[in-house]
Amino acid sequence: MRVLAVSDEAYLEHAPGNWPEGPHRLEAVWKALEETGVGDLLELRGPAPASEEDVGLVHTSRHIERVKEVARGGGGYLTLDTVVSPKSYDIALLAVGGVLTAVDAVLGGEAKRAVALVRPPGHHATAGEGMGFCLFNNVAVAAAHAILRRGLERVLIVDWDLHHGNGTEAVFYDSRQVLFVSCHESPAYPGTGWITDTGEGEGEGFTVNIPFPAGTGDETYLEAFDSVVAPIARAFRPELVLVSCGLDAHFLDPLGRLELTSRGYGRLSGVVCGLADELCGGKVVFVLEGGYDPVGLGWSLASVLSVAAGRDPVAEPEGCRREGAEGDGKGGGARGSGARAGGLVISSVLKTQRAYWPV
Ligand SMILES: [Zn+2]
Repeated sequence: MRVLAVSDEAYLEHAPGNWPEGPHRLEAVWKALEETGVGDLLELRGPAPASEEDVGLVHTSRHIERVKEVARGGGGYLTLDTVVSPKSYDIALLAVGGVLTAVDAVLGGEAKRAVALVRPPGHHATAGEGMGFCLFNNVAVAAAHAILRRGLERVLIVDWDLHHGNGTEAVFYDSRQVLFVSCHESPAYPGTGWITDTGEGEGEGFTVNIPFPAGTGDETYLEAFDSVVAPIARAFRPELVLVSCGLDAHFLDPLGRLELTSRGYGRLSGVVCGLADELCGGKVVFVLEGGYDPVGLGWSLASVLSVAAGRDPVAEPEGCRREGAEGDGKGGGARGSGARAGGLVISSVLKTQRAYWPV
């Protein structure tokens, strides 16, 4: 099965300078897709830019204007950790547009699965603010578009970026139409995503946070997907699955210590695609978020997409090792203290979520 991939060289033009989130990340993705052969499993398409009206489904006009102003004024700091370059406003609209292009193709039946290889990333951006390298919340706009314009009633967002998707959570915190599930490292940036944060009002029970400790690794992640994510997804019955696909939980990543391998990422993709096949005709759209080691990012994404295309997970190139890591430096977190502590987190999440779901 071929997977639709939406991307464009224009995404390199959001150029924050000497910064962890830069154009080199997308180049690393394209390189890995070529070297692993996974690129041959993809059908490429260019993005249509989003309009201000599209972005306005989620963001305040004040925030949209401010991003535009800073970019048009030659660029600079939007917040302490988020930089805008002269073309960033247009490219951020193109990033949202790339995700909408992918979602519309999947909802229209042109593709079963799709990936939006876009930047800047989005999941930290709230309705009124950019932060954490994110300007507009690509995945949140896509979910709002699917619900408000395409008539969907239930969208599942799985966020497996290393960092908590605080922006996406905030946008849908009081909604029962979006089930937001996040696995993230804790403690880590941005410091949100506690187990007991489960939504509010009508949305109570529709936020699921799984904050994992350093060293958690593949097997404990898989356990969380089997024992928490799968039964809740089955009870929710999504009509579309969006994945905030950050690859910074890979063991080589300089920003985190969750110790996933690229094979592990591929196996997570298998669980999500399997659930989508069972629940919503296979409709999954992966949306690129973080990932800051060229190999960890590129090979993990290749592994995710290989499995989405019906093939096997992809291992990192031979000899990859993180210097100074606990354990063997090769990821996986096998039976270490992090994996055991991660297991305790899962028990605690289950205890909290039993108030809402058959887990
Ligand atoms: Zn991240």
